Amino acid sequence: MKSNELSHNINVVWERIKKACINSGRQSSSVRLLAASKSRPPEEVDAAANLGLRLFGENKVQEARAKIPLCRSGLEWHMIGHLQKNKVRDAVRLFDVIESVDSLELAQLLEREAAEQGRKLRIYAQVNVSGESSKFGFRPERVRDFALQASEFSRLELCGLMTMAPYSEDPERARPWFRRLRELRDEIADATGLHLPELSMGMSGDLEPAVEEGATIIRVGTALFGPRRTSITGEADLVTG
Ligand SMILES: *Cc1c(COP(=O)(O)O)cnc(C)c1O
Repeated sequence: MKSNELSHNINVVWERIKKACINSGRQSSSVRLLAASKSRPPEEVDAAANLGLRLFGENKVQEARAKIPLCRSGLEWHMIGHLQKNKVRDAVRLFDVIESVDSLELAQLLEREAAEQGRKLRIYAQVNVSGESSKFGFRPERVRDFALQASEFSRLELCGLMTMAPYSEDPERARPWFRRLRELRDEIADATGLHLPELSMGMSGDLEPAVEEGATIIRVGTALFGPRRTSITGEADLVTG
């Protein structure tokens, strides 16, 4: 992809974010744009970084292991795909934030590994708000207990919640799921006093309702980089929860 194309796409996405912010009385500075860079080579990450993007998301540890060391430092890397327990060591080494924490057991492994590596790690709880069987994430009624359990960890900081809405041609169909995630966060924060500022929700096709419902991070791939290719590790890129 040419740099002027990418520059145009970034502007278009920010215009969409700003419009959604105006619609909902939010400041656009309260929304961060995460570039979902899966299947994109390091050169495209570099081009995006030259154009001011700092937040990048990968959904496979194997691909991240090949890519992140080739990218400049100073970027913030988020794991946004399902994390297998046998990939925890690499994930802790590679990522600043794990958005896709979907079980207490996984969090316990991350805590142990972060201690091992002498570092702290920010995490989000991934929530399966829609209950689709194809999606990973906590059931909504489990998140409060998890948040309380996570608050006991010394190496992990639970910063908020993440979700993926079911795929639909119509972005408005995603709105109730985004609203549900925000309400769930508010309920948990009220009940526990925990500070959970981040809501990672909304992608290329449904970022407007996500921003209007309170997203602090939107994860955007195709609207920035164009249609996905197979990943740089040669695996087919399956877009699943
Ligand atoms: C790929 C991906 C995105 C971005 O999807 P697009 O539709 O390309 O914007 C967002 N979130 C997750 C978890 C992803 O894997």
